[in-house]
Amino acid sequence: MGISRRKALGIFGGGAVLAATASRTAQARDKPNSVAIIGGGISGLSVAYNLVRCGFKGKITVVEKSPTLGGNAATAEVILGTDFRGAGDIQPFVRFADLGVNDVNLQSYVRLKEAMDYIHYSTDKYLRPLEDTVTHFTPDFKEIWTKDGYLTGQAEPYTEKPIDDRRGVVDTRHSLHIEDAQLADDERSFMLIAADDFNRKNHFKPPEWWDLTVAAYVEFFKKYRLSKTKISSENLKRLVRLFLYPRISAMYFADDSGPQNMPMLGVMSYYSLQEGIGITDPKNGTEPDRRYFTHGSQHWIEELARWLETNDENQVEILRGFEAALTGNSKHGVSVINLSENSSALDARYRTFDVDQVVMAGHADHQLHALKPEAITKRDSTADPLLSTTMEQYLSSVQHSESQAYAHTWNRLLPPDPGSWRTYNVTIRDQKQRHGLQSGYQMTYVQNRHRNDRQNKTYNQYALPVYFVSLNPQEKIPDEYILRRTQKDKIQALKRQEGYGRKLNADDPEAQLAKATFRHTVMTSRLLEIQQDLHNHQGMADGRVFFAGCWTNGAGLHEECFAQAEHVVDVMLGKSASDRS
Ligand SMILES: Cc1cc2nc3c(=O)[nH]c(=O)nc-3n(C[C@H](O)[C@H](O)[C@H](O)COP(=O)(O)OP(=O)(O)OC[C@H]3O[C@@H](n4cnc5c(N)ncnc54)[C@H](O)[C@@H]3O)c2cc1C
Repeated sequence: MGISRRKALGIFGGGAVLAATASRTAQARDKPNSVAIIGGGISGLSVAYNLVRCGFKGKITVVEKSPTLGGNAATAEVILGTDFRGAGDIQPFVRFADLGVNDVNLQSYVRLKEAMDYIHYSTDKYLRPLEDTVTHFTPDFKEIWTKDGYLTGQAEPYTEKPIDDRRGVVDTRHSLHIEDAQLADDERSFMLIAADDFNRKNHFKPPEWWDLTVAAYVEFFKKYRLSKTKISSENLKRLVRLFLYPRISAMYFADDSGPQNMPMLGVMSYYSLQEGIGITDPKNGTEPDRRYFTHGSQHWIEELARWLETNDENQVEILRGFEAALTGNSKHGVSVINLSENSSALDARYRTFDVDQVVMAGHADHQLHALKPEAITKRDSTADPLLSTTMEQYLSSVQHSESQAYAHTWNRLLPPDPGSWRTYNVTIRDQKQRHGLQSGYQMTYVQNRHRNDRQNKTYNQYALPVYFVSLNPQEKIPDEYILRRTQKDKIQALKRQEGYGRKLNADDPEAQLAKATFRHTVMTSRLLEIQQDLHNHQGMADGRVFFAGCWTNGAGLHEECFAQAEHVVDVMLGKSASDRS
């Protein structure tokens, strides 16, 4: 059983204001004939998808500055080794490694699920249950805390296995005290109470995170009459240090200076959407349904793009390698200008085109850059500006950070005992000393568990290495341990019918390494305030400019990007949220 769209809009949804904003912008720009969407990541494509689904009959042009689509949904197809079995039939073992978007919860990502069903992207074939297990450890590996999840053993090829409902703490080399285990066992309920507490107060400027955490925890124990359990403040602090802080630090939208600066609301919305806490009810069968992408998340984006481009009824064009800058034009529309270096060598159509409306779909700093293109204003000082003062301030005050992601086989990032490795392996940071860590958070996914390879005979034998994806590794991974991307010709030689491989044609050895840098939004209280006010600025410049993208809704999870796209399209087309439900 799923959850409703309205509920899934989450804490950040602005449904109440939607109708008023919608009629205002619909009046401002009656029946647009053409829309440009800037950015070919999940946000941009979900705006295009929503326009098509809402029956928009005009021309839609998505522009993406990279040669490939996906943005933060970036997949590397890698070779783990070679299979010499069979006479003369030498085949590489090809696996996928998601460097950015890794998993989704189909139970709470209702828009994503609906879109996948609509375009016949098989959620049985391309999204399979992941093993949701976690280890936390200190950088010196002296303290290791391993907690097993609710699901194990779903392997590829897909086989039904019973759900293993063992929750709790599994001892490793250094076990926790029993009181701590008790605390950990109650973690789901703790989160639920804390989320409720937060919702009730609608807190956008939370007090100190620590105070709120402890207050919610104490409330939980009171409510369930667990006061006989003696919780020492020592144990509470320990729980927060060993469990909560590391997990929050490992969220990609964390502030590098530490989890204590993350607004509780951001943390809780993440827990709700991605992990299902607070919106699932095991008694009613609404368990989280966490899945990984069997062919990588970028494959999904490519398939959505393929559907948008090839379906005869859709008037969608996607221009890759087009870095857009925008300016108003004399016909009161928007001119979209290609800033890419080689644009002068392209057809006129690929250099510039005019549209009625534009949707900015990506990161705030990129949007600022595109809307305030110095290159254009230098050329033409009379260019019609599209950016209001408030929106310029908003876009400039969104904070960003960078994450490095590597697919590799260097096991020294994890504790020496592989028995303590789990799907998600998170470093416990010392809040005062950063132990020389390169960056604020770090996490290593053991891909063989995440993708259930250890359950699959094909990938769990012939001495194939265990492989990992690490975000912000604490030590430099030597190049020889970083996996190589497959080459396009090799993939073609394999005559693969499907799978990700269209982007991989670079001969540059550096480009062949399976690594990526992601720029991402940092969740701050200021960002939450901006998100709350953003609806007042949709349809800026006389109904010409709209804002979607990962920074505009919550933590920018895949489903939140979809929700924002839906909201923006409703506003553009003058619909109200109830028209959809
Ligand atoms: C490391 C990491 C892990 C994550 N893991 C998960 C996860 O497991 N589950 C989940 O649900 N979410 C996850 N997320 C969040 C979510 O995936 C991202 O927030 C989302 O992919 C962002 O999509 P987007 O389209 O808004 O931005 P992007 O994916 O960044 O796409 C924006 C696109 O716009 C293009 N662009 C920018 N400027 C211009 C211009 N001027 N002209 C043309 N094109 C331009 C960029 O090249 C880019 O391709 C993760 C994010 C990160 C960073």
